[in-house]
Amino acid sequence: MLNIITIPAFDDNYIWLIHQEENNNCVVVDPGDDEPVMEVLNKLQLNLEAILITHHHPDHTGGVKQLVAATGASVYGPANEDIKELDYRLSEKDTVNLDKSALSFSVFDVPGHTKGHIAYLTEDALFSGDSLFAGGCGRIFEGTAEQMYQSLTKLSLLPADTRIYCAHEYTEGNLNFALAVEPENNDLVDRINEVKKKRANGQSTVPSLMHVEHATNPFLRSQQKSVMKVAESRLGKVPSSEIETFSSIRSWKDSF
Ligand SMILES: [Zn+2]
Repeated sequence: MLNIITIPAFDDNYIWLIHQEENNNCVVVDPGDDEPVMEVLNKLQLNLEAILITHHHPDHTGGVKQLVAATGASVYGPANEDIKELDYRLSEKDTVNLDKSALSFSVFDVPGHTKGHIAYLTEDALFSGDSLFAGGCGRIFEGTAEQMYQSLTKLSLLPADTRIYCAHEYTEGNLNFALAVEPENNDLVDRINEVKKKRANGQSTVPSLMHVEHATNPFLRSQQKSVMKVAESRLGKVPSSEIETFSSIRSWKDSF
């Protein structure tokens, strides 16, 4: 049985710690800060076997050096990004097999937020970094809208019960934007009420589920008439493709 522990960091980052129950070797994803990770390792008496990185931004990599010094963990990350602490450089279709922790991850290239961004899947748990968020997607900094669209489409084909462990607690803000796009989406209205309740109680809204994203995340819904209509009114013409729809919604979100 997978045990996935939420380690909050900074204002709204999540570092994910993964281990098999009954196994004290573990993995962390995107440790932007070493201190909260060390605290959990010490408290639960876990040995850090590996660090997985999705992309080069400092809030995802800032704790790597200190964690390696303290634990000797191996570092895995994107082949196409300049991260000097990497021991293993990964891209699409690679697999990470970890002996001690008995964990295995498959790798997806999901460029868009950054040019070499990757995501990791183990069992039904997807670690999407800043590509697919609960209720939204990452800002396009280095890639193109087309790349981000293709990346999200690839992830959206994973099974409907896939759990999405993204790297930020952005859900409420994302869904407020989603509601501006689709005010008549009842699934979305229900989700916002649920998320607001959780946040008011200080609870995390991550992981989310793929089928919930299909129903409510506007960035997975470029083929829906409601979303196309909004894109049309922003573009002043009928969008020529799902990519154009996606791109116009993504630009709107940047200034929302
Ligand atoms: Zn980022």
